[in-house]
Amino acid sequence: MTDTAKPDAKTPIVETRGLEMRFNLPTHFLSREKPVLHALSGVDVQIQQGETFCVVGESGCGKTTLGRAIMGLLTPSSGEIYYDGKRIDTMGEDERKPIRADMQMVFQNPYASLNPRRNVFQTLAEPIRHLMPEKSEADVRKQVEDVLDATGCDQSWQRKLPHEFSGGQRQRIAIARALVTNPAFIVADEPISALDVSIQAQILNLLNDLQDERGLTYMFITHDLSVVEHFGDRVAVMYLGQVMELAQVEAIYRDPKHPYTQLLLDAIPRLEGGSFDAPREPGELPDPVNPPPGCPFAPRCPIAQDICRAERPQLRPVGDSGTMAACHLAE
Ligand code: SF4
Repeated sequence: MTDTAKPDAKTPIVETRGLEMRFNLPTHFLSREKPVLHALSGVDVQIQQGETFCVVGESGCGKTTLGRAIMGLLTPSSGEIYYDGKRIDTMGEDERKPIRADMQMVFQNPYASLNPRRNVFQTLAEPIRHLMPEKSEADVRKQVEDVLDATGCDQSWQRKLPHEFSGGQRQRIAIARALVTNPAFIVADEPISALDVSIQAQILNLLNDLQDERGLTYMFITHDLSVVEHFGDRVAVMYLGQVMELAQVEAIYRDPKHPYTQLLLDAIPRLEGGSFDAPREPGELPDPVNPPPGCPFAPRCPIAQDICRAERPQLRPVGDSGTMAACHLAE
């Protein structure tokens, strides 16, 4: 991690309070209404130093928007974001620069996230030169060499262009780029979903090893709860821009409290008695421009009652395992 921002172990490394993100959509020429997409609706999360905090949900649930807002790639409509106790969403670019070196991101698609005209050295040197201007050229070269070693990349890759690599190799380079400024916190947005299944385990193992060696904190965004089971410490299940359940990974699998979490777990294909169980059909996500009143999951919930369609449930402690769930009926 950088010398300028060493997180305090007692303070959450990242925290959001009441985070809202709304996007104005183009008005239809036959309508006077100005449609607004509610991508995040009051998200409160605390990510502790050294943990792997997974954010899970279907496409369109707001998980990538949450990651990008935390990274400062999107400006929240309202709410607050803190890094190591300091509010960062209101900082100017110069003030935020040292923190940018400490917070890095790995994107989903290693084919799109690397500049095709930059060789690996140029790709890895750029964040150091931009975010750590005090470093000499010798320091830059040393940091690039060190991060290539740490991520299992060959030093001969430095002069090669992205098209010369496989998808797994490109994702290693993308991880190297995220690590080259020696950050403490990494947002990994679906980092294995674009890769062959045979490569996915290698990348997960690499992320695990790097976390052990460097004490990294991960925010791991995925649509796939089966990945979380082997990789995460805690998990936030998101639906239509809200956190539906927040729990230890082990508790989510043993005793899911929210009907939506149950539906996601039922959607995982499992090997039962030598054959795969057909996953339960998860149904459709409602329109985020016109979210349903009350509980956003009510149109798909098999146990919905009148109160669910009238009042939005708040995230609250449920049971004695520390799990929080936003459900009127969870016990
Ligand atoms: Fe289902 Fe009601 Fe709970 Fe929403 S609040 S998840 S509709 S039971």
